[in-house]
Amino acid sequence: MPPTTLAAALDDVEARLKEAAIEDPRFESRVLVARAVGLSVGEVLFYSRRPISPAEASQIARYTEERSKRRPVSHIFGEKEFWSLTFEVTPDVLTPRPDTETLVEAALELIPDRDRTLSVLDLGVGSGCILISLLTELPQAYGVGVDIDFDACLVARRNAVRLGLDNRSAIIQGDWISAIGGKFDLVLSNPPYIPIGEIETLEPEVRDYEPRLALSGGRDGLDCYKRILTGVGTVIRPGGSLLLEVGSGQAPLVSAMARQNPLFRVKTTTDLGKVERCVLATVIDH
Ligand code: GLN
Repeated sequence: MPPTTLAAALDDVEARLKEAAIEDPRFESRVLVARAVGLSVGEVLFYSRRPISPAEASQIARYTEERSKRRPVSHIFGEKEFWSLTFEVTPDVLTPRPDTETLVEAALELIPDRDRTLSVLDLGVGSGCILISLLTELPQAYGVGVDIDFDACLVARRNAVRLGLDNRSAIIQGDWISAIGGKFDLVLSNPPYIPIGEIETLEPEVRDYEPRLALSGGRDGLDCYKRILTGVGTVIRPGGSLLLEVGSGQAPLVSAMARQNPLFRVKTTTDLGKVERCVLATVIDH
């Protein structure tokens, strides 16, 4: 018998998700049921005795089935919140992570005058979450996003359109800076940084569903930083900055790599969990 009230549906879904070893089945049951019936999580809890229609029951069953296979919620819903904006997410792009908001914050701290005209480059743009979030905060900025994966470029482009920023951004398919000319005030990247041998140990949501291309940083996880740091100095304006998201424990290594370029002044910033998340290299302005 399918459940007939929201309360019964919540219990059912929670039990199914628990069997699938989902870490927080109660919370996730609320998220799935709310979405399936078109209410907020708060409303679902408040109207728990509300009956559910057969169509709603089958939508709940579909979401639960998918989630039990450990498919990420961002793939089931086709979207994810980042920087209080809603981004389209497909299996072609990394799902935006809250950690990455640290990078956006660190970039904004460098810009005391948000109405300044400035240019931003995002290397490995993926969904476009970094570039587009920054552009929403910097009304006079223009941004370029590069990704080697054409399908990822299409997602980034659709997100720029969806969030009304396609007139201030361009998305280009390319291999890091090889497709780029000119100089930018800010260059950002959250490159793939997971050591290849660790990918199999990750949660199924990541291991089985997220694009390998967006995860794997080679044998030591640092391949992409090496690629980016070679030559990136040529696309940053004097006084401009490079901001790199790094994995837990990678900050000292990536900082040391950046310091090899005598034109960079390098420091790191931490995220809310006190992990050094961002390596910031500023090009000395003589
Ligand atoms: N820049 C994108 C993000 O931060 C994609 C990152 C990636 O694919 N490694 O979500």
